[in-house]
Amino acid sequence: MKQNEEIFSWESWVTIPTNSDFSLQNLPYCIFSTPNNEVKKIGVGIGEYVIDLNQMQQLNAFDTFNLSENFFLKDYLNDFIGLGKQITNAIREKIMIALKKENGTENNILFHHQKSILLPQKNLKFHLPVKIGDYTDFYSSREHATNVGTMFRDPNNALLPNWLHLPVAYHGRASSIVVSGTDIIRPYGQTKAADAEKPSFHATKLLDFELEMGFIIGKNTKLGENITTAEAENHIFGMVLFNDWSARDIQAWEYVPLGPFLAKNFASAMSPWVVVMEALEYFKVETPAQSEVLDYLKFEGKKSFDIQLEVFIKPQNSEEKLVCKSNHKYLYWNISQQLAHHTINGCNMNIGDLCASGTISGSTPDSFGSMLELTWRGSKPILMHDNTERKFINDFDTVIMRGFCEKNGHRVGFGEVNNFVLPAK
Ligand code: MN
Repeated sequence: MKQNEEIFSWESWVTIPTNSDFSLQNLPYCIFSTPNNEVKKIGVGIGEYVIDLNQMQQLNAFDTFNLSENFFLKDYLNDFIGLGKQITNAIREKIMIALKKENGTENNILFHHQKSILLPQKNLKFHLPVKIGDYTDFYSSREHATNVGTMFRDPNNALLPNWLHLPVAYHGRASSIVVSGTDIIRPYGQTKAADAEKPSFHATKLLDFELEMGFIIGKNTKLGENITTAEAENHIFGMVLFNDWSARDIQAWEYVPLGPFLAKNFASAMSPWVVVMEALEYFKVETPAQSEVLDYLKFEGKKSFDIQLEVFIKPQNSEEKLVCKSNHKYLYWNISQQLAHHTINGCNMNIGDLCASGTISGSTPDSFGSMLELTWRGSKPILMHDNTERKFINDFDTVIMRGFCEKNGHRVGFGEVNNFVLPAK
């Protein structure tokens, strides 16, 4: 089913608020539980509701798919993703059609049993949607790499010689990736001021967010196989919002020569919703112009995504303040190139692996995707609504990231990833 203008004209019998991220054309997946039952289940977002897929299965709505009993009672989406796009897309299509306005009739299982199937999101608990095996963090924003290179090394040679030739990345840590809503504890670590003789040990003074998005691998590959730019999107299940929490003082001291370690692995957070690639198809755009690349990184057609991104800081007793507006389409390297590069040496990918974009900065100072860049290493503090200033993130602040696609009045969104910051232990 092509995600074209015609599908975007469809309406639903479910009341969907204007500007809802969870339109009929989105149908993102999540893992949820209800207040009186700890069992985790697979759900689909629509408007202000979650569709309980297990409940639909118990009412025989998915009989044609030959799924095992209680298939949708799952701690993670991995087994569902493992069914393959042919089946997961057919399930999504079935749900989408059942939600269409003209199908709001009593012989429609979803409509007839809506009281037990459609659960208000505000009553639910959301969990990490995917069991992440491996996590890779790219560094694909030219603006971000240039800003960081300018601040930490040399403004005249801000990009290192390899940067325009390959999507730079490092292997991160999966164990500390948490779902939105999880508190972040300010980490301790080793730092060394430029003028200090010896390093010291204390809680980070430069806690920062990184505005990123991640994609979830949807297919296993074998060691020795590679994925081409043309095939890449077929290997990706969907995308999430991602805050790659960072401690800049720890990072500056530890990162040479092997790159990020404890400055990054204390926590990263993702949105509970996974938006499938098929829902994003309508919002594809051209990738920014690139220098000549080697053949395996060449690609055809539109491979970038127009996803508007926002970051807010909410001090404990004040309103949230918008501090950054960026867009996924600014990324120099698109996700197909990232995956092609990741596997060109035969590195195998597994269902549920997460590849994050790296901080997504734009070209203007209000589009930078980290406090490091927004305040230019603390030299330009940002004023909050309560008149306090932020150079980096304070204890008891909440950082909120939101993301959505919008075209011709049609919207597909990612919800949000938010975290409250607790003082160091
Ligand atoms: Mn990062």
